[in-house]
Amino acid sequence: MKQNTVLDKPLIARSRREEICLLFGESYDRERWNDWRWQMRHRLTKLEHFQHLLRLTPAEQQGLLIAPEKFAVAVTPYFASLLDPEDPLCPLRLQVIPRSEEMVVDTTDMADPCGEDRDSPVPGLVHRYPDRVLLLALDACAAYCRYCTRSRLVSQGEIDPITRRLDAILAYLEKHTEVRDVLISGGDPLLMSDEPLNNLLERIRAIPHIEFVRIGSRVPSFLPQRITPELVAMLRKHRVWLSLHFCHAQELTPEVAQACDLLADGGIPLGSQSVLLKNVNDSEQALKDLFQGLLKLRVRPYYLYQCDPVVGTKHLRTSVQKGIELISKLRGHTTGYAVPTYVIDAPGGGGKVPIQAETLLAYENGVAQVRNWEGKTFTYIDPTEQD
Ligand SMILES: *Cc1c(COP(=O)(O)O)cnc(C)c1O
Repeated sequence: MKQNTVLDKPLIARSRREEICLLFGESYDRERWNDWRWQMRHRLTKLEHFQHLLRLTPAEQQGLLIAPEKFAVAVTPYFASLLDPEDPLCPLRLQVIPRSEEMVVDTTDMADPCGEDRDSPVPGLVHRYPDRVLLLALDACAAYCRYCTRSRLVSQGEIDPITRRLDAILAYLEKHTEVRDVLISGGDPLLMSDEPLNNLLERIRAIPHIEFVRIGSRVPSFLPQRITPELVAMLRKHRVWLSLHFCHAQELTPEVAQACDLLADGGIPLGSQSVLLKNVNDSEQALKDLFQGLLKLRVRPYYLYQCDPVVGTKHLRTSVQKGIELISKLRGHTTGYAVPTYVIDAPGGGGKVPIQAETLLAYENGVAQVRNWEGKTFTYIDPTEQD
């Protein structure tokens, strides 16, 4: 199977890894590199780390100096080894290296674009839809996406440890028998160690009316080393679904393929959420490569998000018009499974709204005019009413 990855060139990959280890005065050791805790302890967080590894633009240098005060910068050594040292428009680099543009606040930017805070009945729980809740497990991630919709909370010490909040959350869930679906997110829940994560899942699973549990995580992209057979067995035991997060085909490395294989072989249903980002994936080819690449790993593209109007993300956002054009170039042109639902998470707390080009051109007196993927028009007539 062909993978788009620097690991196709093992010598270069090797030396990048060595360079990164040297930043911390260590030599490269394969076993340590593959240990997720070593990865977490050796994250690149500041200008001095990155300037040895990448030819930084002035905008990136400035971003690295000032951004961490507003929103943490951290990149795992593994992900750092994938960044193109020469190209500032490298689609992975754009996602994790801050730029001075992050300081630009557009008039329509918001700190909490999806209005989550106002739909929060107890700390760390968002109850917006009738039958499901979003549980914020912790505020840390393996690396920080510069377009994070939760940058107001994530990495800010704004979310208390789950152990301190869990009793109140469980009491709420027990009382609200209409809740059948719990989405655990954060931060990244898979940064929890196996034991506390197992405890959390066990306690949620003990509530009889909770029938569906899923975890939202970008760990398979930023830190595939975390996906161990022990973790997979535990997720399997609790019958968890995973919503992964990938934005570009270059994230789909052999390590990621191995992690997804472990998960899929271990019986974990896998979906993926992507964010439409300017210069990262806002082309037909980039999206096709990403979504078809995910299918090869047995990951079903679930949502493509219009980028939320988070403070300081204007330079990463593209128009809704562009999103509609792109999704129209996928629907019907490739495997249906490779086409996620394109959504806007409505600012102000409206929830996810699916967006697509008009396909129902007219519908009157039981006659529907529909437009297909090639732009041709067809008529569908409802069954005639019997009196
Ligand atoms: C996205 C989201 C969910 C889950 O929505 P699905 O459409 O079921 O994936 C639940 N709660 C909140 C607040 C969300 O943002």
